[in-house]
Amino acid sequence: MDIGIVGGGIAGLSVALALSQRGHRPRVYERGAGPTTMGAGVTLWPNAGLVLDELGLLPDIAAVGGRPMAMRRLDPAGNALGGIDITLLDRLMGYPTHTILRRDLLAVLLDHVAQAGIEVVYGHRAVAIDLDDAGRAVARFDNGAAIRPDLLIGADGRMGSVARQFVAGENAPVYQGFVNWIGVASGAGALVDDVAIQDYWGIGERFGCVAVRPDLVYWAAAEARPLSAAQQGDTDLRAELLDRFGSWAGPVSRIIQATPAQALRLIAVHDLEPLPVWSRANVLLVGDAAHAPLPTSGQGACQALEDAWHLGRCLDEAGASLEAALQRFTRIRAPKTAQLTQQARGFAQGLFATDPEVCRIRNQQALAADPVQHVRAMAAGWGQGLEAGGARPQG
Ligand SMILES: Cc1cc2nc3c(=O)[nH]c(=O)nc-3n(C[C@H](O)[C@H](O)[C@H](O)COP(=O)(O)OP(=O)(O)OC[C@H]3O[C@@H](n4cnc5c(N)ncnc54)[C@H](O)[C@@H]3O)c2cc1C
Repeated sequence: MDIGIVGGGIAGLSVALALSQRGHRPRVYERGAGPTTMGAGVTLWPNAGLVLDELGLLPDIAAVGGRPMAMRRLDPAGNALGGIDITLLDRLMGYPTHTILRRDLLAVLLDHVAQAGIEVVYGHRAVAIDLDDAGRAVARFDNGAAIRPDLLIGADGRMGSVARQFVAGENAPVYQGFVNWIGVASGAGALVDDVAIQDYWGIGERFGCVAVRPDLVYWAAAEARPLSAAQQGDTDLRAELLDRFGSWAGPVSRIIQATPAQALRLIAVHDLEPLPVWSRANVLLVGDAAHAPLPTSGQGACQALEDAWHLGRCLDEAGASLEAALQRFTRIRAPKTAQLTQQARGFAQGLFATDPEVCRIRNQQALAADPVQHVRAMAAGWGQGLEAGGARPQG
């Protein structure tokens, strides 16, 4: 089948690889002039590990990514608030967790896409999708080009997806009341003691540091803010960050200092309301265009990868009926991603509470939580739908 994919991010490239491996002919259309390098890093949890393994990417991911052993929660003074053993999660789910810079993940995907002979066409911004007389979708680009593939996949992200507009008639992202500053810190020496995820919880504020190596750490700071104050002005972001987080314990201030000022970004964090319908005619949504949970889910990129894994299978299983395949895909993917979206909203509500008493109770509960139960619940939730495909629990 000829497949046109709008958007060359994590979803678009991984879907292209999965479908090419099953004998389809995908082509990717990306609005940027080259690969997108925006963003800091992502944690690829074991459910993503399964997909990366099947796509044949795991060794290359392991070569540039980190293997975090633990996630530790702390308060701004450095007092422990519990955490989880990531090695246990990996064992339960049968695949490794990796931390990786976004540019490195994109580079691995692009390398494999090139090896598979899949063309990525840059400088193509989709501006509209309409139906021809036969009811087949036509995607039109800002440079005048148009495509009419057998299957058109919308992988054009969360903030203004043309495909989502076509399928659902709306694509308004929802501001969820907090901003993220993101960056990548690198040092001549170690910035942190070990390869771990350290999550500092304040009152209406958070600082999460994720090590790829002890001397390479991507991070996201966050603060509850009304939308009117969420846009980036001419402010000196580093000074603002040091003012807010400079006195926090551990490596926080060191990490901010080790981040080049020009690489800092401030993001008003939006998610998308879960959609019950992901396809119209021969157009299908994947990745953030279909389901964009808050970063507090830790699962956006992982779910984009899961889309790739499921879509290949759904197309195989439905045989000649594209409609049946797209409906089956939505039936499998929509409930899991909707649940993650709601969980991420609930978690964000607790994280960005501004009442000190609410935060004190939240911290107490975090400290009292059973870490093994927590890991088992994570493994059960994130493994959902992948069991039949080879999740290999190791006890
Ligand atoms: C601060 C932050 C931290 C995060 N941390 C994690 C994490 O730890 N783990 C995790 O799993 N996820 C994480 N995520 C989520 C993750 O980054 C996204 O879910 C993931 O990038 C989705 O991939 P995508 O390809 O669907 O969308 P995108 O990465 O947004 O890619 C969309 C692509 O489409 C292109 N495009 C857009 N519009 C058009 C158009 N009209 N025509 C042509 N091309 C177009 C864009 O240029 C882009 O290349 C985080 C997100 C944020 C904001």
